Amino acid sequence: MAYPFQLPDLGYEHDALEPHIDARTMSIHHGKHHAGYTSKLNAALEGHTDLHGKSAIGLVSDLDALPETIRGAVRNNGGGFINHALFWDVMTPGGADAPSGDLAAAIDAACGSYDEFKARFQSAAGAQFGSGWGWLCSDASGTVSVVATANQDSPHMHGLTPILGVDVWEHAYYLHYQNRRPDYLGAFWNVVNWDRVAARYDAARGA
Ligand code: MN
Repeated sequence: MAYPFQLPDLGYEHDALEPHIDARTMSIHHGKHHAGYTSKLNAALEGHTDLHGKSAIGLVSDLDALPETIRGAVRNNGGGFINHALFWDVMTPGGADAPSGDLAAAIDAACGSYDEFKARFQSAAGAQFGSGWGWLCSDASGTVSVVATANQDSPHMHGLTPILGVDVWEHAYYLHYQNRRPDYLGAFWNVVNWDRVAARYDAARGA
């Protein structure tokens, strides 16, 4: 997908992730916040026809290649565009309880166990000061790692492919959880779509 970028569909109804993520949060998050990143990314690229063939991930992965006048806007809004596209895709009502197969083995190799992975992921996302994201990433060899990024920065900016992400901007949880970010993070596990995370893991390592 290239310029002009379009807001992707959620793939489920706004209330599909209730009670873990409420319908009003999903409606505003997708229809206002993600839509805003999308339109601002397009606005930044308007007139830069040499960049119109590039994917959003391609743009964000090589910020140094961009004109300085739009670098910040693409970092923030291109990051917001791709981060949220991943976020909707890796959630589903009634997903599997845990990863399996090669992904489960990679998580065990990196973290020791699935429970330890969950603890590290929640800790990284929970400790992110201010707005940002918690991630499970893969490198090209299939080694996975847990990282956090600030604002709308993407692991792609650091040469890593995100395969699972959780948004810890207050707009992602404040209506339902207020200041209780740890409760939101705990509930997140109920809506993870491990089939999609596994597919992203396979793509990241060329399997
Ligand atoms: Mn968000």
